[in-house]
Amino acid sequence: MKKLLVAGLSLVLVCSMLFVGCGKKEDANNIPETIKVGTNAEFPPFEYKNDKGEYDGFDMAIMQEVCKRIGSEMKIENMEFKSLVGAMESKNLDVIAAGMTVTDERKEAVDFTDSYYTSNQYIIVKKESKVKKLSDLNGKKIGVQEGTTGDFIASGESKTVKDATVKRYKKGADAVVALRQGGVDAVVIDANPAKEYVKNNKGLKLIKDESSKEQYVFAVQKGNEKLAKEINKQLKAIKADGTYDKLVKKYIGN
Ligand code: GLN
Repeated sequence: MKKLLVAGLSLVLVCSMLFVGCGKKEDANNIPETIKVGTNAEFPPFEYKNDKGEYDGFDMAIMQEVCKRIGSEMKIENMEFKSLVGAMESKNLDVIAAGMTVTDERKEAVDFTDSYYTSNQYIIVKKESKVKKLSDLNGKKIGVQEGTTGDFIASGESKTVKDATVKRYKKGADAVVALRQGGVDAVVIDANPAKEYVKNNKGLKLIKDESSKEQYVFAVQKGNEKLAKEINKQLKAIKADGTYDKLVKKYIGN
């Protein structure tokens, strides 16, 4: 009797394990009904909060359109830029839409879609500064947004900038405040936010770094080919039917 009971229980256990196993596999293969999109809404014109306090910007509009065409809801999770990849590794996000540049190191942790925008780095300095290129920042104090490509360049990763003191901020806007107040000599940050920050700060000027071409991509969880493929398919469609150009015009201009 006891043996029968054990056998019966084992059978129930095995069956339920199979059932759970199947359930999990199903989930991994399906596009979620609600796509959790991680961003850092401090990066205009790609992501920010608008006057009504809603998430807005080019990336948000593109992902909204992609989700709509896929037939899923989009749920935005706002966090620090440097936390996005970790949140995706712990499976709390389905997509990262944050003006994220492809880098080899990030590729080890997440998978990327096709590129949706090309950018480069800009240097922001005070009007009277003599800085003309990245290597002029050697040994200087540089403000960056933590964990970004601007941070990697200022920290000497590409060897263009050497021996700088890097001050890391949660927001690019805070780095620009530090520049105005004399806490740093320059800010290294992506082109479009740089333009936005200088637009509102008359004492500052911009220097374009031609050497640092970067591709913006959306990230998905490592191995989630299905979602990456679906996003790429919709990106192509959005480009082909003129929606992409319309959104560039609305958010980025020329
Ligand atoms: N493109 C830069 C990067 O990927 C900055 C992105 C951001 O600050 N949102 O590191």
